[in-house]
Amino acid sequence: MEIRLQKENEDIIRSLIGTGRIPHTVIIEGGGAKERESAAWLLAAGAVCREHDRPCLRCAACRKALDGFHPDVFCPEPSKNLKSGILSLRDLRDGYLSQMSIRPNEADCKVYLFEDADRLLREDAQNALLKTIEEPPQKLLFIFTAEDAKRLLLTVRSRARIITLRRSQAVDEESEAAAESIIGGLASTYEYELLRTLSALNDKDRLKGALAAFLEKLRQALGFFGGVMTDDESVKRLTRKLDRSRVIALIETTDEAVGILKTNVNIQLLTTWLSARYRRITWQK
Ligand SMILES: [Zn+2]
Repeated sequence: MEIRLQKENEDIIRSLIGTGRIPHTVIIEGGGAKERESAAWLLAAGAVCREHDRPCLRCAACRKALDGFHPDVFCPEPSKNLKSGILSLRDLRDGYLSQMSIRPNEADCKVYLFEDADRLLREDAQNALLKTIEEPPQKLLFIFTAEDAKRLLLTVRSRARIITLRRSQAVDEESEAAAESIIGGLASTYEYELLRTLSALNDKDRLKGALAAFLEKLRQALGFFGGVMTDDESVKRLTRKLDRSRVIALIETTDEAVGILKTNVNIQLLTTWLSARYRRITWQK
């Protein structure tokens, strides 16, 4: 796990750790997916680090936490038998809840990090966790990440410290540039240009950002056909190349891809599929 965090978001997490009184339940929302993930792991490392300036990110405890094999840091993964990225109630009970009263191995507390908790944990699982969150049998730290904390049960939220990360400006500029490249790829007569552009977005966050920015441009293009003017050169380019029905088809396909991105999809397969669909929509007579 590589921590990639904007300075101000890192400061938020470090100040929480620095107080020496980390709340027992923290929800990390906002920012980008990578920011939330990094913030969550920074906090987890901070809870088990043995040095003064926690987390030092250098000591054995920090390294073990970030490499995913600290014996007191748990990051429950979706159940294998379920396709949808959900942790089943049964797996939560058998794999984690039943162990929560067992003392930590090395650290002062045990850390449970639920990434994308709004998708990972259905209501039944959140309810099952609630009792332990309210009355932990020992020192536990629960960390949940979610794009929007409101997607978690109110009963969970009300017992948690909610940390809202700032969205990165740099990421948005990158997404904007990527969306423009997609448009360039669509317009290119060279068949593999689009595939090459999309394949370069080989990271879930970057692809997600790029598709969001591309969707925004498509919606502006649709608005243009409805009589709304635009100054955006890349949107104008879209409207010169495509008619209204093709723009709508691109919006539908992009929406679909954004939905698929929320599952544990292979990014390369998704970009290949997307490239073929975009190409067909753009070029078929
Ligand atoms: Zn450390």
